[in-house]
Amino acid sequence: MRDQIKRLEELSRALDPNAAERGQWLQKVVQYTDSFLEQLKSVPVYRSNPEAGPGLFDAPISEDPLDMDRVLGLIRDNIDAAGVHVGSGGWLAYIPGSGLYASALADYIAAITNRYPTIYFASPGAVSMDRLLLAWMAEWIGYPKESAGDMTSGGSISNLIGIVTARDAQGLQAKDFSKAVVYLSQQTHHSVDKALRIAGLGEAIKRQVPLDERYRMNPAALEREILRDKKAGLIPWLIISSAGTTDTGAVDPLAAMAEIARAHKLWLHVDGAYGAAFALCAEGRKVLQGIERSDSVVMDPHKGLFIPFGSGMVLIRDGRKLLKSFYYEAAYLQDSEVLASPDEVSPCDLSPELTRHFRALRLWLPLKLIGLAPFRAALEEKMLLARYFHGRLRELDGFWVGPEPDLSIVVFRYIPKHGNVDAFNQRLAKAVQEDGRVFISSTLIDGKFTLRMAALNFRTHLDRMDLLIQVLREKVKEIEKE
Ligand SMILES: *Cc1c(COP(=O)(O)O)cnc(C)c1O
Repeated sequence: MRDQIKRLEELSRALDPNAAERGQWLQKVVQYTDSFLEQLKSVPVYRSNPEAGPGLFDAPISEDPLDMDRVLGLIRDNIDAAGVHVGSGGWLAYIPGSGLYASALADYIAAITNRYPTIYFASPGAVSMDRLLLAWMAEWIGYPKESAGDMTSGGSISNLIGIVTARDAQGLQAKDFSKAVVYLSQQTHHSVDKALRIAGLGEAIKRQVPLDERYRMNPAALEREILRDKKAGLIPWLIISSAGTTDTGAVDPLAAMAEIARAHKLWLHVDGAYGAAFALCAEGRKVLQGIERSDSVVMDPHKGLFIPFGSGMVLIRDGRKLLKSFYYEAAYLQDSEVLASPDEVSPCDLSPELTRHFRALRLWLPLKLIGLAPFRAALEEKMLLARYFHGRLRELDGFWVGPEPDLSIVVFRYIPKHGNVDAFNQRLAKAVQEDGRVFISSTLIDGKFTLRMAALNFRTHLDRMDLLIQVLREKVKEIEKE
């Protein structure tokens, strides 16, 4: 038995490299990532390569190790050789992410020290950092000290937490679900619909409130619908507002909606996954006015704060309501109950998750290392870039251009002199994407195929807007010639 244990020990020691081995690995990883970042400046934003990805299956998981050069080779050929480069300044599609370098260093530290940010006593520091960031967000959103929240994996989970908290706080029970009414709009993100279903509310009635000509919810129509539903004996309980819709970046009239929510005792949830971070800059603050009067708000650091994917945040105005929905006692966690004082609430009591990544560090470290001012500047720059692009596009012949952007998204389409408009724009989108210097995406607005430019990557600057204009003009010409 001792011999066998010793043999196993010998083999398992490979899991714990010594300083020299660590140094060698690290050096190669740094070389790889540095050259990745260098190439990012010149490689196409999008590359199609049918071999990349499936090639991983030619190197199945096996008993034997592979050296670092070959491992990095597999990553280069299979992962980094195809698809979109989200880190590129030319990435102007969907809601752009970017990925701060400083966050990568934080993830490195977090993985090595592997602090447990779930229960207060296990890492008072990691939990305090969570708490500090949530209090910081509460401050610039304008929420009171009694608010509480969670560092999540993204906007979808944040929306789910907000909706579950609202459901419980509004006292909804299963017998009410088919009479419960949620007010949202045709522009509400689909993760809300999904969250309602996960929360057991698939049967709830969903009222699509009409939008104004700038794709914002019409508050007068909202109030009319609430009154009508109340009269009909239904249970209006939740309003979903968008602070930056994914399609057009429109911000709903939050102050007016908060007024209505208060008057009729509904919960106002703000889906600010894309847009809430703009409250950090003066221009955004104006647009998001009223956000501070909501009951819950979602913001994705992996969008508006440029953190790598896997970072969301949610805040509940009255933190006790969040605790009430997610608190749990388990026998095997009893030590933490003994060790923690009652006011040391742990993240696991405010969230559906238990064990989780130390997410706070990847936001805290960049904020400390870089300071807040460049973040504010980058956000304001993105808003101005969208306005600049909007203005330049309007000067070009032949383009229909959507409303002046609330935040950093512009929607537009080319109207050809003859032929099918949708078909032309589909070809235009494809031509721009295949060109690779910039990457834009499309959507349907009022049933029409529409192009959109979204600026949110911290590497997107003025030259990219000029380049996009140039590429659009070139491609329109080419398609018209055919
Ligand atoms: C991106 C987005 C979401 C979903 O967030 P994930 O982080 O992708 O889960 C929800 N709402 C809006 C408005 C978004 O833009």
